[in-house]
Amino acid sequence: MKAVILLGPPGAGKGTVSEVLVEKGYNHISTGELLRERIRQKTPLGLEAKKLMDAGQFVPDDVVVSMIRKLLEASSPDAEFLFDGFPRTLVQAEKFDELLASLNGTIDHVVQLECPADTIVERLVGRRTCRKCGSVYHVSFNPPSKGDVCDVEGCELTQRSDDTEETVRKRLKVYAERTAPLISYYEAKGLIQQINANQPIQDVRADVLKVLG
Ligand code: ADP
Ligand code: AMP
Repeated sequence: MKAVILLGPPGAGKGTVSEVLVEKGYNHISTGELLRERIRQKTPLGLEAKKLMDAGQFVPDDVVVSMIRKLLEASSPDAEFLFDGFPRTLVQAEKFDELLASLNGTIDHVVQLECPADTIVERLVGRRTCRKCGSVYHVSFNPPSKGDVCDVEGCELTQRSDDTEETVRKRLKVYAERTAPLISYYEAKGLIQQINANQPIQDVRADVLKVLG
């Protein structure tokens, strides 16, 4: 089992880069998407998580780690995973190391996407997503080809409830406090590679593909 981690603040473009990596055969795991799925299904976990997500806070480490554990334990040992939005705290990173070790898995790359805060706010307030297939758009930087509908599914695009300027600024603060320490954690393991994510989408994608070989 092999893992690539996309590390970066909300809005850096992790989901957008993942779209092209999925075409290369990676299994995309977004913990945010897994949680939103539970919100749509109105499970007790989803309803509890929604309150925290809408407030720009993290859901508890044990909830997220247990979702990942179940998923990996049910997967083929040959699978290549792309983690988007996980791990997000030092505790998650340590638990993830233990989990991978128990499954004979390794982290091959941690790709850090760097992007300034003001660009991020602009990206997230203009983000639109397809509820059916998860495709990510932006009203100005990456608009769908027709109106406000998904190019793949043809259905209306939606705006995430946590993509308001106020919540985005809160999420950036939480990122700086709780996720940014992971950069030194993975640097010490010699796994980090930095990418300038403040470039056109095609260039960011090309740089990530180069890093992954
Ligand atoms: P993340 O998964 O890191 O939260 P997304 O991939 O969802 O970020 O991207 C956030 C928003 O920014 C989306 O609206 C997306 O279309 C847009 N976006 C992503 N990458 C770029 C880029 N390189 N340039 C301009 N806009 C981008
Ligand atoms: P994302 O889709 O990655 O932007 O995540 C949306 C929200 O889901 C975050 O702001 C958190 O509230 C929650 N979330 C996603 N992944 C994690 C994680 N690994 N740990 C804690 N909370 C998470």
